[in-house]
Amino acid sequence: MKKQNKIYIVDVTNRDGVQTSRLGLAKLQKTMINIYLNEMGVYQSEFGFPVTRHETNYLNANLELAKMDILKPIILSGWVRAIKDDVEKACKMTRSENLNLSISTSDQMIRGKFQGKYTKEDVVKEMVEAVHTARKLGIKILGVNAEDASRTHLDFLIKFSRAAKKAGADRIRYCDTLGYDDPFTIYERVKILAEEVKLPVELHCHNDLGMVVACSVAGAKAAIDAGVDAYINTTVNGMGERAGNADLVSVILAVKYSSGFQGRYILDERVKLSHAWKITKYASYAFGVPIPINQPGVGANAFAHESGIHADGALKDRRNYELYDFEELGRGGPEIIDTGRQITAGEYSGIKGFRNVYDKLEVKFKNEKEATKILELVRYANVHTQQPLTEDELLFIAKYPDTARKIFTMAP
Ligand SMILES: [Zn+2]
Repeated sequence: MKKQNKIYIVDVTNRDGVQTSRLGLAKLQKTMINIYLNEMGVYQSEFGFPVTRHETNYLNANLELAKMDILKPIILSGWVRAIKDDVEKACKMTRSENLNLSISTSDQMIRGKFQGKYTKEDVVKEMVEAVHTARKLGIKILGVNAEDASRTHLDFLIKFSRAAKKAGADRIRYCDTLGYDDPFTIYERVKILAEEVKLPVELHCHNDLGMVVACSVAGAKAAIDAGVDAYINTTVNGMGERAGNADLVSVILAVKYSSGFQGRYILDERVKLSHAWKITKYASYAFGVPIPINQPGVGANAFAHESGIHADGALKDRRNYELYDFEELGRGGPEIIDTGRQITAGEYSGIKGFRNVYDKLEVKFKNEKEATKILELVRYANVHTQQPLTEDELLFIAKYPDTARKIFTMAP
């Protein structure tokens, strides 16, 4: 029997999410996002930029965590431009085994960005050369990104994608870079593309017109209807350039519970929605951006009912006014907020306060030397994050001090 095509999640918080203007994540925070994504059963994390020097130690340290089975089975993949030079640098600077190679394909960008440097033929040539190089250097999972695919002539997009497939790419990423598509246009275009090329399609959509989740799932439906797997690019809380990317939790909810998808289109079974609460809270804290009160699934009002008819209805039978259960998203447990004295660990902490913080986490140190070593790392961590470290961050540092040291190390 033919294997059933599925929808997989490729989270790009640590790549597109951190490109957000005025916002970013420290390398420890990026690491924690990878860990939470892995715990959540997300298929792949686009975890950074292998040719950007300040990412090198973070990327290699996370690849070591993968080797240690801590970041497993999640696939960690890097993002580079689809040019030979970048691919070579990526493989020299990091031990990345998986890459996405990106190049613009629309007339607008070929004209407006390359400004005569590349013709359409050159774009295909550069990409093919980059794919060949990546394959030669042993890259395992290899995606090719058509930047601004939604404004690219479909004939050229098909030609470009066929060339990518022939050169050895595993997937084509359809980038709705400006959020220009609507759910109907993306369905039509991706359906034709996938039927013509027969290559799994990644959907990378933006929210400039407020349709990002709808476009992402419509594109995924088109890929599956055409007989290939679909990979939706998401970010935690929809962080991303300008109006953002497709929100991870909303995409999962849409595939699981919308009337046209539920029971018909299969989401990668490993995804555990029960981790939604934890990862969205953490990303909100790390980015310093509150979760909107009306955010699907995890907003403060996502399960709140007040008006008489709604409250009465929800109390009689939750299905009257709720499509899914709050427990399923990991909500409903008590959250303890300390309202008395608090000792936090930071860049200027001393050993006494530090001991107090770790005592509460029930972490025992072998001796004074070990405690001092961890304290020093905690100070450095806080230099990067500039906000009190979370319990999980403190535990991570105590458990994997050598990896943590690598993550904090930067030499401009
Ligand atoms: Zn993007």
